Amino acid sequence: MKVTVLPGDGVGKEVTAEAVRILERVCSVHGEALETETGLIGGVAIRETGLPLPDETIETCLKSDAVLLGAVGSPEFDDLPPSERPEIGLLKLRQALGGFANLRPSKAVPALLDSSPLRREVFEKTDLLIVRELLGGLYYGEPRAMNQNAGEAFNTMRYSVPEIERVARIAFESALARNKKMTSVDKANVLETSRLWRQTVTRVAADYPSVELEHILVDACAMHLVTNPRRFDVILTENLFGDILSDEASVLTGSMGMLPSATIGGNVDFYEPVHGSAPDIEGRNIANPLGAIASAAMLLRYTLKNESAARTIEQAIDRALEDGYRTIDLTGMDDPKLVSTSEMGQIVLEYVADGSNASHASLAV
Ligand code: NAD
Repeated sequence: MKVTVLPGDGVGKEVTAEAVRILERVCSVHGEALETETGLIGGVAIRETGLPLPDETIETCLKSDAVLLGAVGSPEFDDLPPSERPEIGLLKLRQALGGFANLRPSKAVPALLDSSPLRREVFEKTDLLIVRELLGGLYYGEPRAMNQNAGEAFNTMRYSVPEIERVARIAFESALARNKKMTSVDKANVLETSRLWRQTVTRVAADYPSVELEHILVDACAMHLVTNPRRFDVILTENLFGDILSDEASVLTGSMGMLPSATIGGNVDFYEPVHGSAPDIEGRNIANPLGAIASAAMLLRYTLKNESAARTIEQAIDRALEDGYRTIDLTGMDDPKLVSTSEMGQIVLEYVADGSNASHASLAV
């Protein structure tokens, strides 16, 4: 497996370093060949080449099986126009890689229930996956315009059957590998695009008879996410609704630093933690690396299709948290188990090695 690593800016560099050494260790204990190459994107690329996404980075990424990104963005470039800022590098890369399904898991970690803004009894045992359509809908629909003089602006929401079908299949496949329950979210009482969405998802469901399908409206979904998140397994939805719902779901866990994401279905799969470059804590070795490390686990699951290797990482993360280790976003300065970015990486690395030994031992028995 060939992986292009794009550390990017700010804490992106710090958290990616931890994710890569854990990925290397897991691949080595699971007998998987891994080749990594590092590339430039974002502010660091502007500084070195004048461009937020140099051609060489695109070429290297397109020759890989997967890309692992840290984050992009730096206040140093805040005065540049949007088309020249570091963030444009990421938007262009996403388009070049072509992934149309964005997967964001959100899970209650027993050791962190008190970090959630939801009451323990509401959030505990929540384990859901949002599958968001990423390349269609309102964000890309034409025509679009803002006419300042007329005081008017409009956007177009457009979906085709093939666009809906391909992302629905990824969601059904994900549900098959989980608890076989799928919630498709739309606004079919008002929008034509949603009616097409509902018809198409219902038709695709016939190919997955063991998955239980329900349709709900997006407003009801937003409410259920905070009143009864346990009712969900896989949530499938279009671009705009998914943008909002996935952010709502991500804060449930308590810290942005914990959450991974995967974008699949295109030429090259793309993995990144959901957080940004966090310039306020850059260079202090205090960022939470677990979202980046969990993104490496998703890479093993979806690109390498090695579920056991993915679980090795996820179990090591859970164990580090159960044993009380916390980065500063999850605790206070007086916590005796407060650890730095690199210390948290080292703990997960050691547990990864232990976990694989343990499973080998149990296989031998
Ligand atoms: P951010 O996610 O970088 O930070 C928001 C808050 O969360 C900050 O207080 C930060 O310290 C904290 N935080 C973020 N990641 C953390 C981690 N791993 N551990 C501990 N705390 C963490 O969002 P922002 O401040 O709005 O944006 C900063 C820059 O990042 C901007 O330039 C923005 O454009 C960019 N950004 C990039 C991405 C991406 O690369 N995918 C995503 C969002 C924002």
